[in-house]
Amino acid sequence: MAVKKRLAQYGLHSERVMWQGKGPSVFEQELGDLEQQLGLTTVEKAVAWAQGSSIWPDTFGLACCAIEMMSIVSARYDVARFGAEVFRSSPRQADLLIVSGRVAHKMAAPLRQIYDQMLEPKWVIAMGACASSGGMFNNYAVLQGVDKIVAVDIHVPGCPPRPEALVEGIVRLQEKIKAGVPPAYEIRGVAS
Ligand code: SF4
Repeated sequence: MAVKKRLAQYGLHSERVMWQGKGPSVFEQELGDLEQQLGLTTVEKAVAWAQGSSIWPDTFGLACCAIEMMSIVSARYDVARFGAEVFRSSPRQADLLIVSGRVAHKMAAPLRQIYDQMLEPKWVIAMGACASSGGMFNNYAVLQGVDKIVAVDIHVPGCPPRPEALVEGIVRLQEKIKAGVPPAYEIRGVAS
Protein backbone atom coordinates (compact mmCIF):
# COMPACT_ATOMS: atom_id res chain seq x y z
CA MET A 1 0.00 0.00 0.00
CA ALA A 2 1.31 3.43 -0.89
CA VAL A 3 2.50 5.48 2.09
CA LYS A 4 1.02 8.93 2.30
CA LYS A 5 3.61 11.66 2.48
CA ARG A 6 3.43 14.85 4.45
CA LEU A 7 4.04 18.12 2.64
CA ALA A 8 7.15 18.62 4.79
CA GLN A 9 8.64 15.58 3.08
CA TYR A 10 8.13 17.26 -0.26
CA GLY A 11 10.24 20.20 0.91
CA LEU A 12 7.44 22.58 1.96
CA HIS A 13 8.70 23.93 5.27
CA SER A 14 6.10 26.49 6.30
CA GLU A 15 5.31 26.95 9.99
CA ARG A 16 1.95 25.24 9.60
CA VAL A 17 3.41 22.20 7.91
CA MET A 18 6.33 21.81 10.35
CA TRP A 19 4.17 22.21 13.48
CA GLN A 20 4.43 18.91 15.38
CA GLY A 21 1.09 17.53 16.48
CA LYS A 22 -0.89 19.92 14.32
CA GLY A 23 -1.79 17.09 11.99
CA PRO A 24 -2.24 17.27 8.24
CA SER A 25 -4.22 20.25 7.05
CA VAL A 26 -7.21 19.81 4.72
CA PHE A 27 -5.05 21.09 1.86
CA GLU A 28 -2.35 18.59 2.71
CA GLN A 29 -4.82 15.71 2.95
CA GLU A 30 -6.44 16.60 -0.34
CA LEU A 31 -3.09 16.94 -2.07
CA GLY A 32 -2.04 13.50 -0.80
CA ASP A 33 -5.32 11.98 -1.97
CA LEU A 34 -5.02 13.68 -5.34
CA GLU A 35 -1.51 12.38 -5.88
CA GLN A 36 -2.60 8.86 -5.03
CA GLN A 37 -5.69 8.96 -7.22
CA LEU A 38 -4.05 10.48 -10.27
CA GLY A 39 -0.78 8.56 -9.90
CA LEU A 40 1.29 11.72 -10.11
CA THR A 41 5.02 11.43 -9.60
CA THR A 42 8.33 12.95 -10.61
CA VAL A 43 11.06 11.40 -12.74
CA GLU A 44 13.35 11.28 -9.68
CA LYS A 45 10.79 9.34 -7.68
CA ALA A 46 10.09 6.95 -10.55
CA VAL A 47 13.83 6.31 -11.04
CA ALA A 48 14.32 5.78 -7.29
CA TRP A 49 11.41 3.33 -7.28
CA ALA A 50 12.93 1.40 -10.19
CA GLN A 51 16.40 1.35 -8.62
CA GLY A 52 15.09 0.26 -5.23
CA SER A 53 12.91 -2.46 -6.72
CA SER A 54 15.64 -4.12 -8.79
CA ILE A 55 18.77 -4.34 -6.66
CA TRP A 56 21.33 -6.73 -8.13
CA PRO A 57 23.83 -7.97 -5.53
CA ASP A 58 27.38 -8.94 -6.46
CA THR A 59 28.31 -12.61 -6.01
CA PHE A 60 30.88 -12.13 -3.29
CA GLY A 61 31.22 -14.05 -0.05
CA LEU A 62 33.97 -13.90 2.55
CA ALA A 63 33.33 -16.22 5.49
CA CYS A 64 30.63 -17.99 7.50
CA CYS A 65 28.15 -15.13 6.96
CA ALA A 66 28.26 -15.89 3.24
CA ILE A 67 26.45 -19.19 3.83
CA GLU A 68 23.55 -17.25 5.36
CA MET A 69 23.70 -14.81 2.45
CA MET A 70 23.48 -17.65 -0.09
CA SER A 71 20.35 -18.99 1.55
CA ILE A 72 18.33 -15.82 0.92
CA VAL A 73 17.71 -16.95 -2.64
CA SER A 74 16.33 -20.30 -1.50
CA ALA A 75 12.64 -21.09 -1.54
CA ARG A 76 12.40 -20.63 2.23
CA TYR A 77 13.52 -16.98 2.23
CA ASP A 78 12.92 -16.09 -1.43
CA VAL A 79 14.47 -12.65 -1.71
CA ALA A 80 12.97 -12.55 -5.21
CA ARG A 81 9.89 -11.22 -3.45
CA PHE A 82 11.85 -8.00 -3.09
CA GLY A 83 13.45 -7.99 -6.53
CA ALA A 84 16.98 -8.65 -5.25
CA GLU A 85 17.62 -12.25 -6.26
CA VAL A 86 19.72 -11.61 -9.37
CA PHE A 87 23.23 -12.15 -8.00
CA ARG A 88 25.68 -11.07 -10.70
CA SER A 89 29.08 -12.58 -11.37
CA SER A 90 30.50 -9.31 -12.63
CA PRO A 91 30.69 -6.22 -10.43
CA ARG A 92 29.93 -4.17 -13.53
CA GLN A 93 26.43 -5.61 -13.54
CA ALA A 94 25.85 -5.31 -9.78
CA ASP A 95 24.76 -2.38 -7.68
CA LEU A 96 24.87 -3.94 -4.20
CA LEU A 97 27.94 -5.29 -2.44
CA ILE A 98 27.06 -7.50 0.54
CA VAL A 99 30.20 -7.80 2.66
CA SER A 100 29.39 -11.14 4.24
CA GLY A 101 32.08 -12.03 6.73
CA ARG A 102 35.39 -10.88 8.19
CA VAL A 103 37.66 -8.95 5.87
CA ALA A 104 41.25 -10.15 6.19
CA HIS A 105 43.77 -7.46 5.25
CA LYS A 106 44.74 -9.75 2.38
CA MET A 107 41.18 -9.47 1.01
CA ALA A 108 40.81 -5.72 1.54
CA ALA A 109 42.43 -4.80 -1.78
CA PRO A 110 40.35 -7.24 -3.91
CA LEU A 111 37.20 -6.12 -2.10
CA ARG A 112 37.98 -2.49 -2.80
CA GLN A 113 38.74 -3.34 -6.43
CA ILE A 114 35.34 -5.01 -6.81
CA TYR A 115 33.69 -1.98 -5.21
CA ASP A 116 35.50 0.38 -7.56
CA GLN A 117 34.44 -1.68 -10.57
CA MET A 118 30.75 -1.37 -9.70
CA LEU A 119 28.93 1.36 -11.55
CA GLU A 120 27.17 4.15 -9.69
CA PRO A 121 24.77 4.33 -8.00
CA LYS A 122 25.96 1.49 -5.77
CA TRP A 123 25.29 0.44 -2.22
CA VAL A 124 27.05 -1.60 0.45
CA ILE A 125 25.64 -3.78 3.21
CA ALA A 126 28.03 -4.77 6.02
CA MET A 127 26.63 -8.14 7.04
CA GLY A 128 27.45 -9.38 10.54
CA ALA A 129 29.68 -8.33 13.39
CA CYS A 130 32.94 -9.07 11.56
CA ALA A 131 32.19 -6.94 8.51
CA SER A 132 30.85 -4.13 10.70
CA SER A 133 33.57 -4.00 13.33
CA GLY A 134 35.97 -6.93 13.10
CA GLY A 135 33.74 -8.84 15.51
CA MET A 136 35.60 -11.26 17.76
CA PHE A 137 38.71 -11.01 15.57
CA ASN A 138 40.41 -8.10 17.27
CA ASN A 139 43.81 -8.84 15.78
CA TYR A 140 46.31 -7.63 13.20
CA ALA A 141 45.04 -9.92 10.44
CA VAL A 142 41.47 -8.65 10.20
CA LEU A 143 40.19 -5.25 9.12
CA GLN A 144 38.29 -3.70 12.04
CA GLY A 145 35.22 -2.70 10.03
CA VAL A 146 34.78 -2.61 6.28
CA ASP A 147 33.68 1.04 6.47
CA LYS A 148 37.39 1.86 6.62
CA ILE A 149 37.71 1.06 2.92
CA VAL A 150 34.18 1.43 1.45
CA ALA A 151 31.17 3.56 2.38
CA VAL A 152 28.57 1.39 4.12
CA ASP A 153 24.84 2.09 3.69
CA ILE A 154 23.37 -0.57 5.98
CA HIS A 155 24.82 -2.57 8.87
CA VAL A 156 23.15 -5.90 9.66
CA PRO A 157 23.92 -7.05 13.23
CA GLY A 158 24.48 -10.64 14.31
CA CYS A 159 27.01 -13.47 14.25
CA PRO A 160 25.88 -14.67 11.87
CA PRO A 161 22.78 -12.66 11.08
CA ARG A 162 19.92 -14.94 10.13
CA PRO A 163 18.84 -14.77 6.48
CA GLU A 164 15.71 -12.90 7.62
CA ALA A 165 17.96 -10.20 9.09
CA LEU A 166 19.78 -9.79 5.79
CA VAL A 167 16.47 -9.63 3.93
CA GLU A 168 15.38 -6.93 6.35
CA GLY A 169 18.62 -5.07 5.66
CA ILE A 170 17.83 -5.20 1.93
CA VAL A 171 14.29 -3.96 2.57
CA ARG A 172 15.63 -1.08 4.71
CA LEU A 173 18.04 -0.22 1.89
CA GLN A 174 15.15 -0.20 -0.57
CA GLU A 175 13.26 2.18 1.71
CA LYS A 176 16.25 4.52 1.78
CA ILE A 177 16.63 4.45 -1.99
CA LYS A 178 12.93 5.05 -2.60
CA ALA A 179 12.91 7.90 -0.08
CA GLY A 180 15.67 9.61 -2.09
CA VAL A 181 18.48 9.15 0.44
CA PRO A 182 21.75 9.33 -1.53
CA PRO A 183 24.21 6.40 -1.39
CA ALA A 184 26.69 6.47 1.51
CA TYR A 185 29.65 7.33 -0.73
CA GLU A 186 27.93 10.56 -1.70
CA ILE A 187 27.32 11.50 1.93
CA ARG A 188 30.58 10.39 3.54
CA GLY A 189 32.93 9.90 0.60
CA VAL A 190 35.30 6.97 0.16
CA ALA A 191 38.89 6.77 1.39
CA SER A 192 41.31 6.83 -1.56
S1 SF4 B 1 29.98 -12.36 12.04
FE1 SF4 B 1 30.12 -14.46 12.85
S2 SF4 B 1 29.24 -15.72 11.22
FE2 SF4 B 1 29.78 -13.73 10.30
S3 SF4 B 1 31.86 -13.97 9.50
FE3 SF4 B 1 32.02 -13.18 11.58
S4 SF4 B 1 32.30 -15.01 12.85
FE4 SF4 B 1 31.46 -15.68 10.91
